[in-house]
This record gives sequence, C-alpha cells and structure tokens, in this order.
Amino acid sequence: AMNAQDARGAANEAARERDFPGNLFVVVAPSGAGKSTLVNALLRDDAAIRLSVSYTSRPPRPGESHGREYHFVDAAEFLQRRSAGEFLESAEVHGNYYGTSRLWIEEQMRRGDDVLLEIDWQGAQQVRRQFRNAVEIFILPPSLAALEERLNKRGQDEPHVITRRLLAAGGEIAHASEADYVVINEVFERALAELRCVIAATRLRFGSQRARHAALFAELGVHAEPSV
Ligand code: GDP
Ligand code: ADP
Ligand code: 5GP
Repeated sequence: AMNAQDARGAANEAARERDFPGNLFVVVAPSGAGKSTLVNALLRDDAAIRLSVSYTSRPPRPGESHGREYHFVDAAEFLQRRSAGEFLESAEVHGNYYGTSRLWIEEQMRRGDDVLLEIDWQGAQQVRRQFRNAVEIFILPPSLAALEERLNKRGQDEPHVITRRLLAAGGEIAHASEADYVVINEVFERALAELRCVIAATRLRFGSQRARHAALFAELGVHAEPSV
C-alpha cells in the first residue's frame, strides 16, 4: 500500500508528466566508450529526440563548432551563468566545467519532444533528483583495452588528456549501477539497436502514453489509477 508521502510523490510526478509530456533520457559513459557516436547515429533517424547542447569551459576540439557540440565559454562566463541559476545541473569533469541549460530543456519537454542529455555521473544524479521519470542509460566499453584504443583512435585529445580520461574511467564506471539500463558498445550496430529499444520501450510507458494520447484515453475511459 502507498503511504501518504509516496502518494504525494506520485501525484507530483503525474503533474510533472502533464507539464512536461516529453521523455528525458540521460546517457552516461566513460570518455571514449562511444557515447557521442551512438547518440549521433540515434538522432539521425529519430526526429522526435532533441539533443541538449551543454555549456563547457573546455576548449573546442578540432572540428567542433560553437553551438553544435557545445556552447564553448570561458570559466568566468560559465560560473556567472551557474550563479544566475541557468543550469539544471552542472559538474566539473576532467578539469573543465560542464552544464545543462534548464530553460531549453523544459521548453522542449513542455512541447512533447523527448530530450537526451550526454552528461557525466555527477550531473545524472542531479537530474534524477529533479526528474524522477528520467531514464538513464550507461554505455560501457567491451574492455579497458578497447576504451584506450578508441580514445587514441579518435586522435583528438592531447596524450596527457587521454591519460587523464583513462584514469578517470574507473570512477565513472563505478556509477553504472545507478543507471536504469546498460548498453555494452562492442558491435556498434548492435549497441545502437539496443539503445533504440530503450527509447521505444520508454515511449510506451503508461504515463508517457497518457500524456501523448489524452483524448484517446478519455474516450476509452482509461483511468490513471488502477481500480483494484
Ligand atoms: P567525451 O565524452 O570523451 O567526448 O568528452 P566530452 O568533453 O564531450 O565530455 C566530458 C565529460 O563531461 C563527459 O563525462 C560528459 O558526459 C560530461 N558532460 C558533457 N556535458 C555535460 C553537461 O552538460 N553536464 C555534465 N554534468 N556533464 C557533462
Ligand atoms: P565518447 O563520446 O563516449 O567519448 P566517441 O563517440 O567519441 O566516445 O567514440 C570514441 C571513438 O571510438 C571514436 O573514434 C568512435 O568512432 C569509436 N567507436 C565508437 N563505437 C565503436 C565501436 N562499437 N567499435 C569500435 N570503435 C567505436
Ligand atoms: P568531452 O570533453 O570529451 O566532450 O566530455 C567529457 C565528459 O563531460 C563526458 O563524460 C561528458 O559526458 C561530460 N559532459 C559533457 N557535457 C556535460 C554536461 O553538460 N554536464 C555534465 N555533468 N557532464 C557533461
């Protein structure tokens, strides 16, 4: 049976689903696991998911452009935006600041679009506390050797940056158990198919279907509370 506090929690969640009918996906992985490659492939043929573009104080890699991979800002501007309360979550990762824009995300979700965040575990914890329906997916590499090989193959970070990220991988991976789903990115196409399954299943959850098909649910007399 539900106690009073659970009942209040459930009511708040239901209200949130009405206010923000879109789903919120959070993808977490150690650097080099293939997170960005998987997410980019996913977004190429799913127009209903919007990728949140984070703010970061990290300098752009060759080929990265302002507003596409990140909003690149200096540390002073980052801290100023953070104090102004602009971020839904923020964290220091590998010596740089990263943060997610609150306003943008809530706008998309209010419209019924799904939003995907590529963030670190510290940010994922902050998001989970605010959006209890957020679905978190952890991407694991098939081995530590593969992780190292991928970071080197990507060839876009300085050797000392790669070393730092490899040393940090264990700390990130230690938080995999906090996620709802785990995808092991060994064979790329298979990992991508698994990621798509998670997205599809999430869209079929009761609360998500109710938010999208309110008129149909009303016509059919589908009730929010199961009658026992
Ligand atoms: P990559 O993941 O190796 O391509 O490297 P990035 O520099 O893109 O990301 C570095 C770390 O920062 C990763 O753990 C990201 O998940 C994390 N990160 C990126 N954007 C955000 C953000 O907006 N908020 C938080 N908390 N973490 C972020
Ligand atoms: P992340 O965003 O997690 O740091 P990336 O998406 O940049 O990782 O991927 C790191 C490197 O690994 C890239 O060069 C990418 O092409 C490669 N990669 C991604 N997935 C696979 C895979 N399944 N097999 C082999 N290489 C992969
Ligand atoms: P990179 O510098 O390689 O792009 O990202 C390094 C790490 O920062 C990755 O683990 C990435 O997920 C994380 N990251 C990127 N953007 C954000 C963000 O907005 N918030 C948080 N918390 N982490 C982020």
